[in-house]
Amino acid sequence: MAGGTDRRTRGPAARAAVTVRVPAKVNVRLAVGAARPDGFHDLANVFLAVSLFDEVTATPADALTVTCEGPDAAEVPLDRTNLAARAAEVLAARAGREPAVHLHIAKRIPVAGGMAGGSADGAAALLACDALWGLDTPRAELLDLCAGLGSDVPFSLVGAAALGTGRGELLTPVDAGTFHWVFAVADGGLSTPAVFREFDRLTAGTDVPEPACGPALLAALAAGDPDALAATLANDLQPAALALRPRLADTLAAGTAAGALAGIVSGSGPTTAFLVRDAAAAAEVAAALAASGTCRATHVASGPVPGATVLP
Ligand code: ATP
Repeated sequence: MAGGTDRRTRGPAARAAVTVRVPAKVNVRLAVGAARPDGFHDLANVFLAVSLFDEVTATPADALTVTCEGPDAAEVPLDRTNLAARAAEVLAARAGREPAVHLHIAKRIPVAGGMAGGSADGAAALLACDALWGLDTPRAELLDLCAGLGSDVPFSLVGAAALGTGRGELLTPVDAGTFHWVFAVADGGLSTPAVFREFDRLTAGTDVPEPACGPALLAALAAGDPDALAATLANDLQPAALALRPRLADTLAAGTAAGALAGIVSGSGPTTAFLVRDAAAAAEVAAALAASGTCRATHVASGPVPGATVLP
């Protein structure tokens, strides 16, 4: 795929098309502080990248265009509000060139599902355009551009497992063994800002503690111990997501009744995440959830997996 025929116009390392594969994330701990004066919340956020992937393909074009395929494609904006398009714009601006690229998103990550699907596409588009345009932007600068696009975007670039602080964008890698998951996709999405507003409403007048992640969770992650991790999974946004979407309680109950070690709302929801002992248990729990009628679809995945990666 290396572009040897068109070097004068696209630079020495430019390519004809670049596809980047990028994972979804689940938060094994999402601790939320009180709203700051700027409206954001300080977070202590332990991310795990899981094997449920979008792919973003960048090809040269006359102008910036976006297309999308997949079961939720109709809900993905194709204009410049798409995070993939915004990523191409910020990278092009930094390089002093036009964002003349076509971005095609093959979408498997649920849309507005609390699994950072838009953020994933933003990180993927950044990496794809960087390779397509032969820019070789230093990793630290790519991470800065990611942080400007959104709090979850830097993690989509680095993947694996990490503790995010600040708005979630200041990342420290953490050790993690492999864990198996089932994800239950709900009908319709939940808006992340709406879930944070509900969190503010539910916690108004209370003393919201500083967000922190305890050592037991980090030890469970490092040990690859699913029982210990199940005992420490926690999401401070879960009461808000359940208040906005009470039927998620039925999905959580169905997953645990089917044998999951623990169930949790993923990020701001409404996807629910079930930690299971192994791949065989994942298949059983996924089948039981599908039969329960409490969700639209299920996905089996494991993690940690690497972040956004250029495919050969
Ligand atoms: P997070 O977990 O980071 O809070 P999310 O997974 O809940 O995010 P997304 O799938 O990122 O939610 O979508 C949130 C909204 O962002 C969508 O409703 C859509 O309007 C918009 N959006 C912009 N770009 C994309 C994209 N590439 N894919 C999906 N949604 C996008």
